[in-house]
Amino acid sequence: MLTSFVIGKASLLTSLFFIMGVFIVFQVAFAAIKKVLTIKDVNFDEYTLRAVLGIIYILVILFVLQNSVRGHGNSLTFVNFQLVAVIFYTVILNVPFKFHLFAPIVLAFMIFNSAITSWESWCLGAVLLAFFYTLNYIKTHTEKVFPYLYYLGSSIFFGVLYWFFAKLKFSISDQVFWKEIFDLTILEIFTFGYIATLFADVESRTALFRDATHDKLTSAYNYDAFDIDLRELFRKVKTTDMKFTMLMFDIDHFKHINDTYGHLAGHAVLKNVVKIVQTVIDNNDPKIKLYRTGGEEFNVIFPNYKLADTKPIVEEIFSAINHSDTKFDNNKINLTVSMGVSQMSKDDISINDFYSRVDEALYHSKRNGRQEITVE
Ligand code: GH3
Ligand code: MG
Ligand code: MG
Repeated sequence: MLTSFVIGKASLLTSLFFIMGVFIVFQVAFAAIKKVLTIKDVNFDEYTLRAVLGIIYILVILFVLQNSVRGHGNSLTFVNFQLVAVIFYTVILNVPFKFHLFAPIVLAFMIFNSAITSWESWCLGAVLLAFFYTLNYIKTHTEKVFPYLYYLGSSIFFGVLYWFFAKLKFSISDQVFWKEIFDLTILEIFTFGYIATLFADVESRTALFRDATHDKLTSAYNYDAFDIDLRELFRKVKTTDMKFTMLMFDIDHFKHINDTYGHLAGHAVLKNVVKIVQTVIDNNDPKIKLYRTGGEEFNVIFPNYKLADTKPIVEEIFSAINHSDTKFDNNKINLTVSMGVSQMSKDDISINDFYSRVDEALYHSKRNGRQEITVE
């Protein structure tokens, strides 16, 4: 397959299979690397890792392919692949824009091709840059999940422009020029089709995951998520140096709110409580997680926290809720909460030992007259 590429007679079908193969090999290899890192308990940011590995991957392929043709007079064999590589870099890898790596890469490619003295090559480089910025612009200015037609339209436009300068540089015939544009269009239709299916897949998986881990009414994490996270943290405290603390709180006399204002008002109060607590969390440390673990009962887990560091945030949450009011049907509903806080210790034999201690602290606050924090 590669030899037919090298001598410049790659059929459209061969190019198409090659490009799809390049994408699929990357997806499979990345999934495998992710799995290995997860098993080895390595912490990584998926997007950054994907971007870095993806850049290396596509550059190696680009330079290896170009090395096989450069200086042979048929160095435009991979022009369409270069254009598809820009799409891969921008749309599939989602390389954060701040990286600003693209211009140096284009320059390196020109030097590699000994094309630095040709004005047509500078035009080709400029077209690639404009193409890159346009794709990024579409990506950041769209409300659609995947703006297929915008992507395709601009890719065809820049493809024609790119081939126009290539035509000048290599004196390509009109016939070859239009054949290449036709091939490129087909390759781009499939490339964006492939990316669109990836996006649809990720989107539906994200939605399923969200539904499985979040409470429908308040959007806080649900009991299942709490159970999974607590078990995982318990294991980590037992086996590593990690620490964590937990706050449990319960709305005081919530039944009375329901009885006075109705169940819908109760719903509004629950949503508002989650909003208030989440705002405090976001202002402090987004790693802290809020769970709705019962009707009007919530847990907050502070990973890597000791009691002393937890206290000011707990007090902030406590005060924010006690000073809030929920507006519902011309009523302003005030409420208070009771809280219990504790840190997991290596001496806790089971999760229940720890959980009961936090629960006890909460009930101590309740028995003591409510609207109180107890730390154990
Ligand atoms: P305490 O101060 O001792 O916690 O008293 P309380 O009234 O808050 O506690 P109790 O356990 O007696 O009542 C909790 C009430 O919460 C009963 C239940 O109807 C109500 N509740 C549970 N889930 C929801 C919900 O999703 N929406 C509404 N509106 N009410 C709920
Ligand atoms: Mg209650
Ligand atoms: Mg309760």
